[in-house]
Amino acid sequence: IIELRNLSKQYDDLKVLDDLSLDIKKNEFLTLLGPSGCGKTTTLKIIAGFEQADEGSVLFEGKEINEIPPYQRPVNTVFQKYALFPHMNVYENIAFGLKIKKMPKDKIDEKVKEMLKLVALEGKENRKVDSLSGGQQQRIAIARALVNEPKLLLLDEPLGALDLKLRQEMQIELKRMQKKLGITFIFVTHDQEEALSMSDTIVVMNKGKIQQMGTPEDIYNEPKNSFVARFIGESN
Ligand code: ATP
Repeated sequence: IIELRNLSKQYDDLKVLDDLSLDIKKNEFLTLLGPSGCGKTTTLKIIAGFEQADEGSVLFEGKEINEIPPYQRPVNTVFQKYALFPHMNVYENIAFGLKIKKMPKDKIDEKVKEMLKLVALEGKENRKVDSLSGGQQQRIAIARALVNEPKLLLLDEPLGALDLKLRQEMQIELKRMQKKLGITFIFVTHDQEEALSMSDTIVVMNKGKIQQMGTPEDIYNEPKNSFVARFIGESN
């Protein structure tokens, strides 16, 4: 569904992405895993269109999308810092994208309800988002990103702010929703266990380069080099 071809990106004298190429299949749950600063977030920003690569291209279903502005890309994003509309309530935040599409009100109500159930915030429709905790706001951001069923969803450490129990529950729920809705996920984490338990495919990155790509079993059982072996072996 999406292809990254020879992406390079430099900030001043720091090479953040170094000739990175990657092919992501439809309906795949693909995780970019690597230490802080290895270029994971930059990769997502280039796919979403918030940053331009210095070299290389991004293809969506075979067509180059380098020149397409972010809001016209068939991609939704959940970043580490949730960006909800603070003056709207929960319902309005989740319904926003559906109203633009002119979906009938009863259908919108149904969808919002379904999403709130997914993120375990049933009945919170009328709450102002700034009266919710950080973890709850993050879950609303996930609901909002999923509700219009994008073909591709980019998630940058979306569970980072949640406590352990909720994090584990959301790992299972997210994976279930991804398969049910048939949305391709590109998920970013530096947490090895999270990557191993959720992904179809893991891409281990370091210093802007792919170190290894494979199933969780491959990565765990047959690390290709000492970096991968060490990184996977480190427990949190
Ligand atoms: P983390 O897990 O900490 O978010 P990451 O793997 O997602 O790390 P990136 O956010 O892609 O890493 O950043 C890669 C490097 O590029 C970091 O060293 C970061 O400081 C640097 N960087 C990112 N954005 C900019 C920018 N706009 N200007 C200058 N340097 C930047």
